[in-house]
Formats: sequence, structure tokens, C-alpha cells
Amino acid sequence: MLRDLLNLFFPHYCLACSKVLAAGETWLCTGCLYDLPQTNYHQEPDNLVAQRLSGRLPVQYAMALYKFQKLGKVQRLLHHLKYKDKPEIGKVLGHRYGILMKEANLNATFDLIVPVPLHSHRLWQRGYNQSDFFAQGLSESLHIPWSNQHLKRISGARTQTNESKLGRFQRVENAFCVTDVSSILDQHLLLVDDIITTGATLEACGRALLAAGIQKLSVATIAMAE
Ligand SMILES: [Zn+2]
Repeated sequence: MLRDLLNLFFPHYCLACSKVLAAGETWLCTGCLYDLPQTNYHQEPDNLVAQRLSGRLPVQYAMALYKFQKLGKVQRLLHHLKYKDKPEIGKVLGHRYGILMKEANLNATFDLIVPVPLHSHRLWQRGYNQSDFFAQGLSESLHIPWSNQHLKRISGARTQTNESKLGRFQRVENAFCVTDVSSILDQHLLLVDDIITTGATLEACGRALLAAGIQKLSVATIAMAE
């Protein structure tokens, strides 16, 4: 009741459509939650993410929750997640994707969820890694542990540029290292990030994990940019 009363005086707004949220809704209204351009990639092995990584990174499952559309609701959510100090939306979307994966019986598939790390300088600027929150949300709904202690970024800040696929990959190619390898050797890791564009970052992270000797790799992102 106190929460409802507080909401009356300090209403919370949906981060996607700016409508006042109803009781029980957090960060996203129910209308938007069901209206976002969801993919069905967790049930379609030959999807656009898989095609993008094909021949570059061997993965079991390649998934993205939503299609990214310029000026659309997903772009707004990602903007809040990365630049407006609203990391909690990452958790909400992680919960959502976890529920869908569970419905597709993928909950026993992965052993550990690993977020793509941010460069320490960017982490310091932003104060958080948005992918950690997506990983946490997935972890809570799938009941699978997550960890940001195994994959480290050692160079190369992430930028939003129009570099070529090759240029981008060369820049991030050796940017990641894997630590405490022995504890994840026999595991199937789910590598997660906020968005897949060229796939260069996921490719570099995934290659580092596979080179370190993990057993299997899958990837999941909040959005897929076409
Ligand atoms: Zn909304």
C-alpha cells in the first residue's frame, strides 16, 4: 500500500513509452513488454545471429531477444540501460529472456552465464557494466550462476563507430583474457551482451573462451541490429 501511495506522488514511468506504470510493473509497462519486436531465435537454430557468427565462432545457441529498430522502443531501452543510469532495465529484460528460455527447456543447458566485460576506463565512466545486469536477470530466472570474474578486457575501449567488420575484429581481437580457467573447463558457457552489431566483440570474447578450453559456447544478447 505504501508503494502504491508513493507511486501516486512520485510516479514511475515506462522507459519505453513514458506511460505511468501501474502497481506491479517495474521499468517497463505490460503493454510494451508484449509489444516489443521479439524474435523467436531461442527456438530457431538458423537465425540471423547464428548466420552472422557462422564461420567465425562455433556456438551451440545464438540468440537475441529483440530486433533493434532505429528510433524504436528497443533503442530507447538500450539508451536508458547504457547512458541514462538505468541498469535495472537490463535485469528486467534478462528475467524476460530467462522465462522464454525456460519455456523452451533451455534452463538446464548452460552451466554459467558470462557477460562481455567493459574496458576499465568505460566501467569507471559509466559506473556499471550493462551486460552484468542482463546476466543477473537471466541468472535469477534460469537459476544458473553468472560471473564477471572469468573474462577480462585488457585493452580497447568499446566505441560505436562505423568501422568495417574486419577493422573492428582486429581492434578487439586480443582485447580479452580468461582467468581462473580450471573452474570452467568442462562447462557450457552462455556469453551475453546488450547488442550484437557486427559480432566482432562476441567473436573475440568467444574465441578467447574457447581457446582457454571451455567445453561449449552459446551467446545471447538483448538486441540484434540488422
Ligand atoms: Zn510502455
